[in-house]
Amino acid sequence: MNRCLSDADIQALIDGELAPDRAGHLAECAGCANRTDARRRAIEPLLSLTRQAGVPPARLDAMRTRAAASDGLVAELSSLKEERDVIRTRVTDMLDQLEALNL
Ligand SMILES: [Zn+2]
Repeated sequence: MNRCLSDADIQALIDGELAPDRAGHLAECAGCANRTDARRRAIEPLLSLTRQAGVPPARLDAMRTRAAASDGLVAELSSLKEERDVIRTRVTDMLDQLEALNL
């Protein structure tokens, strides 16, 4: 069994651009097959929209790049929110302590 596909390999596979010997890995690895299915399902709405709209492939590539960037943005946002919650808890504790001092 050869090594597992990278995310870039999976995207290339979906685009029909992956070398056939690498694509053959899917037949022997359920993990990569599942990742490919998930990726296909995730981008299918975007693909069908662009097909309907007749978006040229170059535009599609740009959209894909942007979609990948926004994945990063979503992760960043959620970590910012977590940080905010931690800070909020800390500030609330500090205020409680100040209150308890009865200055
Ligand atoms: Zn694999």
